Amino acid sequence: MVPGNDASTHRSSISASLECLEFDMEFKIENVSPLGFGCMRFDGRETNEIDIAHTRQMVKDYLDAGGNYFDTAWAYPNSEAALGEALQGLDYDRESYFICSKCVTWTHCESEDDLERQLQESLANLQTDYLDMYLMHNLGGRRTATFEKYHAWEFMKRAKERGLVRHIGFSAHCTPEELEESCEKFPEAEVVQLQINYLDWESPSFRERQCVEVARKHGKPVIAMEPVKGGLLANPSHAVREVLDEAFPNTGYAVDALLFAASMPGVFCTLSGMNALEQVRENAQAFKDFKPLSEQQLEAIGAVQRIMGETHTVQCTGCEYCAKVCPENVGISRSLEVLNYYKNFGDPYAANYQLGFVVRFNGGKNMITDCIRCGACEEACPQNLPILSYFDEIERDVLPFSQKVVLMKP
Ligand code: SF4
Ligand code: SF4
Repeated sequence: MVPGNDASTHRSSISASLECLEFDMEFKIENVSPLGFGCMRFDGRETNEIDIAHTRQMVKDYLDAGGNYFDTAWAYPNSEAALGEALQGLDYDRESYFICSKCVTWTHCESEDDLERQLQESLANLQTDYLDMYLMHNLGGRRTATFEKYHAWEFMKRAKERGLVRHIGFSAHCTPEELEESCEKFPEAEVVQLQINYLDWESPSFRERQCVEVARKHGKPVIAMEPVKGGLLANPSHAVREVLDEAFPNTGYAVDALLFAASMPGVFCTLSGMNALEQVRENAQAFKDFKPLSEQQLEAIGAVQRIMGETHTVQCTGCEYCAKVCPENVGISRSLEVLNYYKNFGDPYAANYQLGFVVRFNGGKNMITDCIRCGACEEACPQNLPILSYFDEIERDVLPFSQKVVLMKP
């Protein structure tokens, strides 16, 4: 049983915890749809060839089904402009939906002026004169210091006073300790956006449950991102499928993962990066009259987590002793975690994508290709793991299978 997961009181309990946060009438938590439209994965984004008519239809179907929260970012290639264009010509007032975008300082930012430039570009791209939510994009690791260096939080508070953004917060891929620090540094943050999926909920590398507990302790309502783990959870193993098919007979595996994230205590909106009409419709149907997972469904997810844990042939505990001795700052534990993904899901392309994402992009670490094979990590590992043999497996089974993914503006 997940603490605080009571179907009848889920959203009202989130709202109750928000009384001190001065959300205005327009952006009350209970007015935000539990399914958010993540706009990071539009097809054609890398080459600026997003099909606007198709995107507009997805947006319309989502709005028609009662959805009202769009998540984008200045740094997502061509996402804001496509969303802004898609929203034009629809029979929906600007006040009937919420747009969240984000500013970034750890790339494409060299001065405080760049923050103003990003915000103005976001507003122009989205063809609006205000954002409902504005986030510092992806705190954690060395990235957090760049937001402080360029006084991003002060800038965002001023943007709120200027009426350009209505609410502010931050997204983060970080440890619970880092999140604690950020919640203390940015106490006026009205929400936090965190990665939540059942694969990483208890993982020693991601410690998502603990992160959510920190957010709740600080009274921050949570927006869930990466609920399907970049698509990995849409294609689980045969053993996992058997469990999910019984507990969730009417939904697909990706939707099951969305429902898990949306059911976690403190989560008021779960983002799905949608790029197909069928996906929008399936998600919208599943979130119609959303209720958190039942006790039986949570038990099924627990069984799935156990199956996945057993399939983990790499028994890395995420203790990070190896990291303390690695002279090349290699992302050892996260690389091993990705090897486990590969062993669980058998998709080398998805595993390769995760490798770059969790090691370099979010982990701020070097790839295993930077390893000089000094062996210090193996000596330090309390689990006596043959780390370098695992690296060999990654080099053989995962690294050759890259697909073009642009996460940030080129
Ligand atoms: S063997 Fe590679 S990963 Fe291990 S400590 Fe040395 S450089 Fe780091
Ligand atoms: S020391 Fe061993 S168990 Fe700990 S994080 Fe490194 S590889 Fe994993």
